[in-house]
Amino acid sequence: MDARQEELRRRLGELGFDDVRFAVLSSGRDDGLRAWLDAGMQGEMGWMERSAAKRIDPQLVLPGARSVIMLGVSYAGRTAGAGEGRPTWARYALNEDYHDTIKPALVAAGRVIEELFGVGERDYRYYVDTGPVLERGWAARAGIGFVGKNAMLISRRHGNWLLLAAILTTVELAGDEPIRKKVANTAPARAGDVGLLCGKCTRCLDACPTDAFARPGVVDARRCVSYQTIENKGVIPRELRAGIGRRIYGCDVCLEVCPWNRFAQEGRKLLLAARGEIAELGLGEILALTPGRFAEVFRRTPIKRVKLGGLLRNACIVAGNSGEVSLLPQLLQLAGTHELALVRAHAVWAVFRLGGGAGLAAARAAETDANVRAEYAAEDAPVT
Ligand code: SF4
Ligand code: SF4
Repeated sequence: MDARQEELRRRLGELGFDDVRFAVLSSGRDDGLRAWLDAGMQGEMGWMERSAAKRIDPQLVLPGARSVIMLGVSYAGRTAGAGEGRPTWARYALNEDYHDTIKPALVAAGRVIEELFGVGERDYRYYVDTGPVLERGWAARAGIGFVGKNAMLISRRHGNWLLLAAILTTVELAGDEPIRKKVANTAPARAGDVGLLCGKCTRCLDACPTDAFARPGVVDARRCVSYQTIENKGVIPRELRAGIGRRIYGCDVCLEVCPWNRFAQEGRKLLLAARGEIAELGLGEILALTPGRFAEVFRRTPIKRVKLGGLLRNACIVAGNSGEVSLLPQLLQLAGTHELALVRAHAVWAVFRLGGGAGLAAARAAETDANVRAEYAAEDAPVT
């Protein structure tokens, strides 16, 4: 590995990335993506299908690409922060949107590549999570971590709490070693091997509240709480709602139970901006959010993606699971008067879960939306 490459690693570390590693690019590695898509496990995430060819062939993203620089930003040490009676949020969401906070460092990283290797802007492309790059597989091949049975990239230094960014480049870089098992005479680990260092552990598979693992390392997004509470823009299937529990935005269960987190060191957090106050919000406050208050509270956070309607939908499910009958007046109001049928439908479910269905007679009589009427009908003939 030449001196410039080590200088690159050092300079990228100075920009705030907690892990900087390299892999030699090749085409045709799909890390199980095609089979996952063919099984329909992406749900409504049509962009996954549309970007599949690019994900599998980096040359379609950056012609002449030879290497990938994988970058990790640790958020270990931040807690979900849910107090008594409060909903829980995915940990990463209790920060400003990492796409925004990491991007300036990627811009600066590009300048470092230009300076050290004498190339131009056309010789690299960077992404933080949303681009057509198989970040998890390349991170494993670069040795940042291994892919656990929970389908997450697990780092021995940062546990499950690592955000990934990638820079594809035409610059030729030497690849770092992937993680190997410490077993005598093993062939080099295939970096994409699921569960490479999981051993016999199955904690993540056992703990999933909605039984979303099709098999170790493969999440059926359609059953996953993260997908349902963030990516799904419509009605959340009734059979999954109880499993959502108090999780209002995302789900960290299969990350939190992983024993590898014991070794996670707190990151420097140079590229994160904490918004821990969100975890202090009570359910009643959330159910009462107005458009103006929503914009104010969730400004610059990833949560704004689900918009007010999506968050109220999720809050209704959490309220229905909470057992807190004190929330019934708010839920009855949402079920009867909210302008979005999506919100009314989930409020109806929550009201029935809390035993207040009798209060919905007038709202039911006035309801015209098919999805909301379906919720009432389902309560007439609940599945046992
Ligand atoms: S994020 Fe939650 S729902 Fe999704 S697979 Fe993990 S434990 Fe299951
Ligand atoms: S919880 Fe256990 S099985 Fe799941 S990823 Fe962690 S070590 Fe592997």
